Amino acid sequence: MHVKKGDTVRVLAGRDKGKEGQIIQAMPKENRVIVEKVNLVKRHQRPTPDIPEGGIITKEAPIHVSNVMLICKSCKKPTRIAHKFLYNGKKVRACKHCGATLD
Ligand SMILES: [Zn+2]
Repeated sequence: MHVKKGDTVRVLAGRDKGKEGQIIQAMPKENRVIVEKVNLVKRHQRPTPDIPEGGIITKEAPIHVSNVMLICKSCKKPTRIAHKFLYNGKKVRACKHCGATLD
C-alpha cells in the first residue's frame, strides 16, 4: 500500500470527499484504511461488559486506499508517491512534487 498508519491523507471520494485526517489503522490485506473522523457510521450497540451503556456509538468505517491520497509533510500538498533508494539500499517513499522523503 502507498499509505500506512500515522500518515495524513486527503479523502478523494465518498461522503467525506475533501476531508483530511490521520490514518489510525491500516489493513493491507483488504487494501483499506481507517482515517480519523472520516466515514463515520452510527452503530446501535447493545450493552456489553466493555460498553455497559450500550446505545448508539459513532465509529470510523474503513475506506479503500484508492480513495485516499497522501499529503506531503513538507509541501502540504496531496501527492503521488515516488520511490527512492537510500545509500544503504533502503527503499523510502518520496513526494512527487518536492522530492521530500516521507518515511
Ligand atoms: Zn512535497
